[in-house]
Amino acid sequence: MINVPASGKKRVVIAGCGFAGLTLAKKLRNSPFQVVVIDKHNYHQFQPLFYQIASAGLDASSIIFPIRKIFQKYSDFYIRKALVEEVKRDENQLVTSIGRLDYDYLVLAHGATNAFFGSEKMQRYSKGMKSIGEALELRNSLLLNFENAVAAVNSEEQERLLHIVIIGGGPSGVEIAGALAEMKEFVIYKDYPELKGKTVEIYLLEGSDRLLGTMTPKSSQKAREFLENMGVKVLTGTFATDCDDKSVTTSRGEVIKTGLIIWTAGITGNRLKGFSEDQTGKGGRFIVDRYSRIKGCWNIFAIGDIALMTEEKYPSGHPQVAQVAIQQAKHLAENLKRISEKKALSEFSYRDLGSMATIGKHLAVVELPRFRFQGAFAWFVWMFIHLMSIIGVRNKLLIFINWAWKYFTYDQSLRLILRTKGTT
Ligand SMILES: Cc1cc2nc3c(=O)[nH]c(=O)nc-3n(C[C@H](O)[C@H](O)[C@H](O)COP(=O)(O)OP(=O)(O)OC[C@H]3O[C@@H](n4cnc5c(N)ncnc54)[C@H](O)[C@@H]3O)c2cc1C
Repeated sequence: MINVPASGKKRVVIAGCGFAGLTLAKKLRNSPFQVVVIDKHNYHQFQPLFYQIASAGLDASSIIFPIRKIFQKYSDFYIRKALVEEVKRDENQLVTSIGRLDYDYLVLAHGATNAFFGSEKMQRYSKGMKSIGEALELRNSLLLNFENAVAAVNSEEQERLLHIVIIGGGPSGVEIAGALAEMKEFVIYKDYPELKGKTVEIYLLEGSDRLLGTMTPKSSQKAREFLENMGVKVLTGTFATDCDDKSVTTSRGEVIKTGLIIWTAGITGNRLKGFSEDQTGKGGRFIVDRYSRIKGCWNIFAIGDIALMTEEKYPSGHPQVAQVAIQQAKHLAENLKRISEKKALSEFSYRDLGSMATIGKHLAVVELPRFRFQGAFAWFVWMFIHLMSIIGVRNKLLIFINWAWKYFTYDQSLRLILRTKGTT
């Protein structure tokens, strides 16, 4: 058993401290519950800015935050760093890598991971961006390719190392493509003057007929225009059908030689033992009712990316974005309090606050419920909203300084290949 002292209060165990778990835990402060938060990391991650870590635009520590610091002043509140592995539903017990834990109410908020749709090769040869570790790994590979390119004697090999293929034209794919295009324009040839005259080629592959499929066609068109003006080769209606460590084959039969494949084409819920097939829906997400209760369970809930909740406006489930996770968490906190007061539960409805994507300096697309705009103003709105969403004054300041520095110089001196002991 994991050491968590009983306090006489009912215990809520929250698995995962991302947007959903963190919001719920905060909302349960001073509630009638003892709260235990379990995460495999000791930090909360701000995923929307992973692409800036991967493209050496920000330092990793500015977008992650120690979980313990957030909850320093909370009482009857416990944090355990562990991997959640299984739920023993009959025993109301959670099985983790450091032992078992009893719960009265369990909230699964352990998010999603990359989905490679059964392609072992894509999984092996591409780099994802679904955790800070992956974003750093991507940055290392990117920079290492430039190092190897300047050292390469064979010009074909050099060319291959300078080709980057991004698979998936959603917000993450578009944002990393834009960031890399800026890096190419303002940094690479300064850092590697020997590469002048060589072309760093960035390909963005999207299977559907437009980028940013969840936004309006106008935003898609603008994003494409921005990227193409920055030199990105945007290939819509094009799937990656095969790959190896040196190339990607497309559904148009083209073979693109490349040194780096970036995967942003899909996600699937993080797996957990203890549930039956019929409790899981599309994308490996738990099927939940409008109270976030997992199908067939009365005291186990799922929120955020891992939950599949449908409502009239969202017959296939909510989009897997931060706002859904945050709103579901706030709503569940209220419902848990209602449970303790023996009141009737209220149904969740998602309020879409809009969506946005940035492509580069003064280039973004923003869609708010009443307004849609693109360009410089959209870019400032994007920056303001992201800055305000980051946890911690220090992190906000660090990011602001970095962005201000980049605004004037385009050059943050963060292009470090950092590897842990044991790797070369
Ligand atoms: C690159 C990228 C860019 C994005 N950009 C945007 C954006 O611009 N706007 C937007 O709204 N959304 C964006 N998203 C989506 C958004 O980040 C997610 O919708 C949101 O993080 C979901 O929150 P969550 O709490 O459900 O899951 P997560 O935030 O993924 O949190 C899950 C937590 O669970 C932990 N965990 C996972 N498995 C286990 C386990 N087995 N045991 C213990 N702990 C575990 C993880 O460490 C993590 O802390 C982006 C996502 C990515 C990857």
